[in-house]
Amino acid sequence: MRILVTGGAGFIGSHLCERLLNEGNEVICLDNFFTGRKVNIAHLVANSGFELVRHDVTEPILLEVDQIYNFACPASPVHYQYNPVKTVKTNVMGMINMLGMAKRVGARILQASTSEVYGDPIEHPQTESYWGNVNPIGLRSCYDEGKRVAETLMMDYHRQSVVDTRIVRIFNTYGTRMLENDGRVVSNFIVQALRGEELTIYGNGEQTRSFCYVSDLVDGIIKLMNAEADDIHMPVNLGNPGEFTMKELAEQVGKTLDKPVQIKYMPLPQDDPKQRKPNIERATRLLGWQPTVGLAEGLKKTALYFQAIVDIKK
Ligand code: NAD
Ligand code: UDP
Repeated sequence: MRILVTGGAGFIGSHLCERLLNEGNEVICLDNFFTGRKVNIAHLVANSGFELVRHDVTEPILLEVDQIYNFACPASPVHYQYNPVKTVKTNVMGMINMLGMAKRVGARILQASTSEVYGDPIEHPQTESYWGNVNPIGLRSCYDEGKRVAETLMMDYHRQSVVDTRIVRIFNTYGTRMLENDGRVVSNFIVQALRGEELTIYGNGEQTRSFCYVSDLVDGIIKLMNAEADDIHMPVNLGNPGEFTMKELAEQVGKTLDKPVQIKYMPLPQDDPKQRKPNIERATRLLGWQPTVGLAEGLKKTALYFQAIVDIKK
């Protein structure tokens, strides 16, 4: 198949491009390099099945493909709040452009949605039927509401124009190829610990997240894209149900690196969700999917990756 991955030079997108190429597909990687990097995909460029296009999804583009993975969008709060209007445009205009392409060429399209559509969730763990608790006018809204509109567009193009759609709600994912200045908690803690700096916990550190290693996530995403079922167009949660407070995560990073860690407490950002954990029964039933990499193992792999980067920059 010929497959388009938007945001393909980013953290998750680059792993997806690599896996799809290894499975014998042709891959077009489209990216505007806002948070993506050529180094993430440099090893794929020599493969004759790989093509790189510098393009912004907010602008229309004509391509002929069989499948579209729409991953273009900054994911770290630091990056998506840098230019919030652009974040909304990427989620809304980018989604319309990609759905237009899917409709024109009859391609199947999968949208990278997020657990952020649940906002600061009152239902715990979160099932796909939960409508969420989202502030429409806060600092996170450009991303949360942008992704919610993107889901709306996916469902309306499916109902109105019979586009073949898949929606994945991705819970916090980490691993190799994250930026060292990404700003998300796993990369922050690992890089800080490797540099011998204090680990920055925002708030009291009692808020929880569930962390999925990137290889598990990519497995689930490709399974979802290729799965068939009557309700396959409805959203599917993908994430690791192991739930940790940020204090526990900091301790685990110290254990993994075998280093004593010092904590620095900093103010909690606005609308920071208090708890988050996926219910993955739907993914398990539809896809036979379950994560296999635990937090300790995933942190070790990620720390090895960051160690090399921190060493180079010493
Ligand atoms: P990332 O920032 O590493 O990747 C995003 C990629 O999209 C980058 O390569 C960036 O340059 C590109 N991009 C951004 N705006 C663009 C535009 N207008 N046109 C073209 N390219 C553009 O982030 P990631 O963690 O790899 O996330 C990828 C996708 O998965 C995002 O859509 C994100 O919302 C979603 N997601 C990620 C997580 C997570 O924990 N990593 C959780 C939920 C959802
Ligand atoms: N966080 C933290 N220290 C950091 C970065 C983040 O304590 O250096 C907290 C943040 O406030 C949030 C959690 O870690 O409660 C996860 O943050 P991240 O930005 O990784 O993802 P998201 O909030 O989008 O789930």
